[in-house]
Amino acid sequence: MEFRQSSKLTGVCYEIRGPVIEQANALEAAGHSILRLNIGNPAPFGFAAPDAVLAGLVARLPEAHGYTDARGILSARHALATYYSERGYIDVDEQAIYLGNGVSELAGMAIQALVDTGDEVLIPSPDYPLWTAVTRFAGGTPVHYLCDESAEWQPDLADLEAKITDRTKAIVVINPNNPTGAVYSPEILQGIAELARRHSLMVFSDEIYDRIVYDGATHHHFGALAPDVLCLTFGGLSKSHRIAGFRAGWLVVSGPRRAARNYLEGLTMLAGMRLCPNALAQHVIEAALTDHTLDELIRPGGRLEAQRTTAWQTLNELPGVSCVKPKGGLYAFPRIDPAVHPIRDDEKFVLDLLLREKIHIVQGTGFNWPRPDHVRIVTLPEAGDLEVAIRRIGRFLDSYQQ
Ligand code: PLP
Repeated sequence: MEFRQSSKLTGVCYEIRGPVIEQANALEAAGHSILRLNIGNPAPFGFAAPDAVLAGLVARLPEAHGYTDARGILSARHALATYYSERGYIDVDEQAIYLGNGVSELAGMAIQALVDTGDEVLIPSPDYPLWTAVTRFAGGTPVHYLCDESAEWQPDLADLEAKITDRTKAIVVINPNNPTGAVYSPEILQGIAELARRHSLMVFSDEIYDRIVYDGATHHHFGALAPDVLCLTFGGLSKSHRIAGFRAGWLVVSGPRRAARNYLEGLTMLAGMRLCPNALAQHVIEAALTDHTLDELIRPGGRLEAQRTTAWQTLNELPGVSCVKPKGGLYAFPRIDPAVHPIRDDEKFVLDLLLREKIHIVQGTGFNWPRPDHVRIVTLPEAGDLEVAIRRIGRFLDSYQQ
């Protein structure tokens, strides 16, 4: 007798928590120390949660015992409506906001509510693979549009347009981008908005890294830039407030909400089916939105920006490795030149690296990148540790054969 997974899971992949992590856990259980450069989880790298958030949590504890409104507590949704209105969103009120157990839960709900079997969703390549996974799980077809490494990983609008069909329902935008670190220009975002208008598409804008930008770059919210396009903006506290484990996320609906009434009824029903998101995490949102401790971490020479710079410089010093400078987010996505280091199977490469060097990174194909010539490295460790780790990866590459 065998108990088998459902056919709905066929083709659904999520390599960030994939098989290599099992091996890393087994090595750790056997007493090895593993450098986890595989997941954007700030807490283990000495990024403490802001005091204001922790104080908010304690103060609200007595109020957070019961289920809440399915969409989330009103005070947090109100604070978010104010926050996004101040950032140029038009006509955003509490009704336009859904709280969730991280962006992860809301992305699944938003796609499930939209996609019928065979419907297509345009998703960047490389992507944060959650979007591809939830689209497949919903019975949809992820169609990947290219981001152009030679243009600082900005989306290739011609490729995006060429991939629109009469089954296309939505465009996913990840800005700042995971894994590339690109921060999209207003021109590119306007170009995407124009395609959405012309083809009546919805936009899912994953902006969880909106406050983590470097070199004085400006992040532009899609929903503020294109107020006439139906847009779901996703955000949360996992990264900017270093509380990934709390599971505090939200989505904001902007644009022609009346035209989306039926869709939003479906989304509200899905929100109700999970009863409510974690109440404690909802209660810290209000305090978190006015917290400015992140400014210190991302200012020029601040910890996050300095680590990003070290990672980027060190990667570019390795023979056969090149890396576009990340302008935001917590990752670098270097290219490993196949002419110098031929790698046929990049999952095997990251597994071999883990076994030999006890460093865990993620293969580029895990981000729906079509060739085995990239890897993603988290830039959360202290600069000195990152430099040592990247040099060890370089030495490993020099002697690596597949
Ligand atoms: N979106 C992107 C682009 C991410 O990188 C991540 C986490 O790494 C998520 C969403 C999920 O975030 P959350 O912790 O809010 O579920």
